[in-house]
Amino acid sequence: MKNKFKLFTKKSIFVVAVLLSIMLVVGGLLGYKMNQMLTDNIENQLTEQALLISEQVGQSIEIQFTQLNNISNAIQSNAKFENVFHTVQQEKSGVSIGMVALNGDIMYGADIVSSEFTGIRDSFRGKKAVSYKKGKGLMFSVPIYNGDNVKYVLYKLYAESVLKETFGRECYNGAGQILFANSDFDIMIPFLQDTYEEEFLSEDEIRNTFLEIQEKMNVATAASSYVECDGQKYFLFVSELSDYGMYAVGIVTEEAVSEGVMYITKLVLWVFGLLLVLFIIVGVYLFITAEKARESEELRAAKEEAEHANQAKSQFLANMSHEIRTPINSIIGMNEMILRECEKESIRRYSDNIKKASSNLLSLINDVLDFSKIEAGKLEINAEEYQLKNTLQEVVGMIDYMAEQKDLEFCVSVDRSIPSVLKGDILRIRQMMINLLNNAIKYTQNGSVTLELSQIPTSEQTTTLKIAVKDTGIGIKEENLSTLYDNFQRLDLENNRSIEGTGLGLAITHRLVECMEGRIEVESVYGKGSTFTLYIPQRIIDDNGIGDFDASMQTAVLPQYTESFIAPDAKVLVVDDHEMNLFVMESLLKSTQIQVTTCSSGQECLECMEKQSYDVVLLDHMMPQMDGIETIKQIKEKGIKKDAVIIALTANAIAGAKEMYLANGFDDYLSKPIEIPSLEQMLVKYIPQHKVLAAEQAQKTASVPLEESVENKRTEKQYDYIDLDMGLKYCGYDNEMYHEFLKIFYDGREEKGEQLKKNYSEKNWNDYVTYVHSLKSTSLSVGCVKLSELAAELEKAGKAYRATRDEESLGFITGHHDELMELYDATMTEVYELCYNDSIG
Ligand code: ADP
Repeated sequence: MKNKFKLFTKKSIFVVAVLLSIMLVVGGLLGYKMNQMLTDNIENQLTEQALLISEQVGQSIEIQFTQLNNISNAIQSNAKFENVFHTVQQEKSGVSIGMVALNGDIMYGADIVSSEFTGIRDSFRGKKAVSYKKGKGLMFSVPIYNGDNVKYVLYKLYAESVLKETFGRECYNGAGQILFANSDFDIMIPFLQDTYEEEFLSEDEIRNTFLEIQEKMNVATAASSYVECDGQKYFLFVSELSDYGMYAVGIVTEEAVSEGVMYITKLVLWVFGLLLVLFIIVGVYLFITAEKARESEELRAAKEEAEHANQAKSQFLANMSHEIRTPINSIIGMNEMILRECEKESIRRYSDNIKKASSNLLSLINDVLDFSKIEAGKLEINAEEYQLKNTLQEVVGMIDYMAEQKDLEFCVSVDRSIPSVLKGDILRIRQMMINLLNNAIKYTQNGSVTLELSQIPTSEQTTTLKIAVKDTGIGIKEENLSTLYDNFQRLDLENNRSIEGTGLGLAITHRLVECMEGRIEVESVYGKGSTFTLYIPQRIIDDNGIGDFDASMQTAVLPQYTESFIAPDAKVLVVDDHEMNLFVMESLLKSTQIQVTTCSSGQECLECMEKQSYDVVLLDHMMPQMDGIETIKQIKEKGIKKDAVIIALTANAIAGAKEMYLANGFDDYLSKPIEIPSLEQMLVKYIPQHKVLAAEQAQKTASVPLEESVENKRTEKQYDYIDLDMGLKYCGYDNEMYHEFLKIFYDGREEKGEQLKKNYSEKNWNDYVTYVHSLKSTSLSVGCVKLSELAAELEKAGKAYRATRDEESLGFITGHHDELMELYDATMTEVYELCYNDSIG
């Protein structure tokens, strides 16, 4: 898991890094593109600005010329020089006006060297001109005509010192400066702020930029370009004043021109940044969600797998319980018959031991099943009224026997005041007591085991049963006490290796007592012994004390079975694919005089129910072809259930089985091995009341006798082909069983006869031998000695012929086959007589 986590984070970091890089590259490209667009946009703006500036400057130059032209016109119309110039002279210091003759003589105004100003020459050619002489100033000049010839040139000279203040310009609120240069790039009018000039114009980069601009200006009258200088960003722009051979050159910081646009750019970049963050968050979120989805998908698959495995386990337990419980059913059932019918004390003792051993085996299976129920959370606590004394007697009797086997002293002490009738789940309490007592005996080699029962009254209606089991056994190490109640936990194995156990008993006891809202405590000294104490809250039904338990134990005897009721008019159908189970069931119910019909398949069950009505149908679940559930489905579909109560009879005692049967339409559920009291209780519950009679009443009732026994008939009639003594001997002198065997033997006659005839006519000696072999043993087991003997001879001949192909053996078979068939028929006639006419009548 940890590795997986590492993998997950590495992977996520990688994905996030890739996403980030992509976004950054995209962001970079976007930024670059935006900058480019911005620069282009600003350059365009500045070009326009440059044009505007040149227009403005052009206008101000034109003003100069207009003034000069006016003077020129005035002079031409013979106005007096002095008067005309007077107003101009007063304009400003540093500004002078004058008139120069073609020979260079100054006719009026400031003394200048006319050859220094190219404009003078141009004006003598009739042009208005602007010329600049470094150190001298900027001159505007116009011609003064005399007729068609230029007689003088009128000039206005702005000294270098006043140029800046007169013509200097700024733009962008002072963030941009403008200078004017001639075509040789001599600065005519400098920047208003000197610093610009000093700092930048000397820079190569700016010169280069000018060249770049010049190139642009080959095709336009204005251009601009971006330049970086000393880490500062600027735009240079130039516009040509072609009429005057001048250039307006501007410089402005990028910041100033792009203020608004930059704001938008920043905004765009912010938005982009936010989008980037959002994108990353969404990406990471999606990635994590996908990871989680994948993980939860894996978890779901793992859960499904675990549920599958759990189901398989439950199925396995169900199957195991069925497989083991079925034979135990037979053992307990048959043993019960011995206990009921045998009066010989020694055999009854053996039988009693069988009973104990099989119930031990059963309790082991029950432990496993209980465990499966606890695991599935399906353990139910069924509270019912009970007499503690009865259960105690049973438990003490059982443990006493076990203690005796190990030469341990078993002491019981029961508080006389414990209420005689309580309400709670006595079966589970019994189970817990047995678990603890079993352990005490198992883990004690010598000394004693003590069972102490007392109570802690909690109210008038409730009390807490305190059940303490003490032993002087091996004890439990302190460090093992904390894991004592864990599933399958076996402790101190070096000392306990030889002791059998599953490690489930205490785990189950612990869960059970918790389910009853009680608790379990343990005190143990390693090597000295342990005391386990259960505290179980119970309701009081009868608060009269239980009394002297010892005395009641003395009077208790090995119970001799007496049937609790009879119901001669009741009809019960038992459906089970195991002959033996049917037989056991019939035997168990014999004493109740119930009319029992048995059948061994779902199909037969349907046929029986179609023909007759039954009070109760005990229907097995696991049967070949049509199982119990399919059968009940068909019973309902065919509408033949009528008033019958259908009880599931099954060894499938796994958690949830009862609910499953009820959900499938069964009225109730009885788990195998069948316990006589539960079977009888269930029948009393479901057989209509008027058909049930109490046992004593039954004894008084001169009821119709049961079938006359075979033995009764034997004294009256002799049979040619049946040796009754031998038949009875093979059935352990059990008349009933003999009768059953005879019936089974008779019922199989047609099929077996047909097979013999078929194999004989087809000369299939292999199968022929198999059939005569089977006939030999079955006929002998029911006392049909003659038939058995002839079958034995034919078997012998058949085997010989099969081995040697000798004619003699074949001759014997062909010579005696018909005889066998006749004898078979004759024997069967007698068997029929015995079974159905003589016995059943
Ligand atoms: P197990 O079938 O092994 O007896 P339990 O769940 O009944 O399973 O008991 C779990 C473990 O607790 C046993 O294996 C044994 O080591 C220990 N234990 C239980 N009862 C006693 C006892 N009375 N004396 C000593 N050890 C005991």
